[in-house]
Amino acid sequence: MSIVDSGSPPLGGASPSQPLAGESLDPARSRCRLALTRAWAVIFEVLVPIRCALCGAHGRHPVCAPCARAMEALPLISRTMRAAVPSGACTLYALGAYDGALRAGILNLKFRNCEAAARTLGRLLGRKLPPVPWVVVPVPLHACRLRERGYNQAEAIAEGIVEGCTASGSHLRHALVRVLSTDAQSSLPLRRRQANVRGAFAVRGDVRLNPARPVLLVDDVVTTGSTIAACSRVLRAAGTTTVTAAALAIRL
Ligand SMILES: [Zn+2]
Repeated sequence: MSIVDSGSPPLGGASPSQPLAGESLDPARSRCRLALTRAWAVIFEVLVPIRCALCGAHGRHPVCAPCARAMEALPLISRTMRAAVPSGACTLYALGAYDGALRAGILNLKFRNCEAAARTLGRLLGRKLPPVPWVVVPVPLHACRLRERGYNQAEAIAEGIVEGCTASGSHLRHALVRVLSTDAQSSLPLRRRQANVRGAFAVRGDVRLNPARPVLLVDDVVTTGSTIAACSRVLRAAGTTTVTAAALAIRL
């Protein structure tokens, strides 16, 4: 089956009220199960406080209210990445500079299980983006790193962006695959990063991109733009005419 970008509803997957494969179709039983799940989530939230991914404060939200307000107050960063992107310029939007609490939060997304915080920060970024019905495509992790980390932080950020953006976009979460297991970009000097990701990405064979729809390529942090350039190259080769990038942070 092909994955076709046809303006599908955001955040694919069954809604909580829809039975999953193999589940009972008994509506009363489904409602009861849903109510129990929600009740357990509330009890768990009260009994086991979580820590804000940005400042570490204990509370009930993955990003505490003061940190969320601070992120909301940041002016959206917009940069044109001419040198890094082949076949034309690419606009990069970022929530903020890679510094302070935002930097600490992004490190937590990479090295701790902070999927909910990634989604929250993505939502904050999505609210600031121009209201374009993007096809939101996250930068993929290699399968080995995905197994180690348990989730792709760019995918969680992309989910949040679709939730936060006022235009009705779609999340094509598996459009790209990382075919080479490369060194972490953050572990390399700047001059070696472009070569490190050369040939590392591909568009999945069963994905058909609609050239008329703009792609929003999502990563957690952008430094040299080498990863964005490598992904942009394969997306354009697959028919996309407009690629814009979004990240939680940019190294200025
Ligand atoms: Zn906080």
